[in-house]
Amino acid sequence: MNADATKSTDLEARIRELTPIQYDVTQHAGTERAFTGTYWDHHADGTYRCIVCRTPLFDSSTKFESGTGWPSFFDVVSNEAIARKEDRTFGMRRVELNCATCGAHLGHLFPDGPRPTGERYCINSASLDFEPRPAAG
Ligand SMILES: [Zn+2]
Repeated sequence: MNADATKSTDLEARIRELTPIQYDVTQHAGTERAFTGTYWDHHADGTYRCIVCRTPLFDSSTKFESGTGWPSFFDVVSNEAIARKEDRTFGMRRVELNCATCGAHLGHLFPDGPRPTGERYCINSASLDFEPRPAAG
């Protein structure tokens, strides 16, 4: 069985289904305008997955109110799920965040988050797909 080939075909199909803003953000490292995304003021209990490949990236228990207008998290579901790289565009030194599985651009990491991690994962709603947690029982 060739899992990689299957996966890439699925990914191509998923990318074709993206909305224009989802495509711009995930495939061209765009940024949605603050306070315009689906999830900046979203407080339901569940998991935020990569919009392209569905890998779980963030949990609602680590989401916090940053006041920035973008969904903000202080931790990740798994360190392996997210790739970090230095981004020097716009004359700033930032850490760009990408989905480690499919390469989709997610947002940026800043060192001014709340405890316990002190990290702020500033993520575009357009990169995320929310899955509500099933009710207990
Ligand atoms: Zn992905």
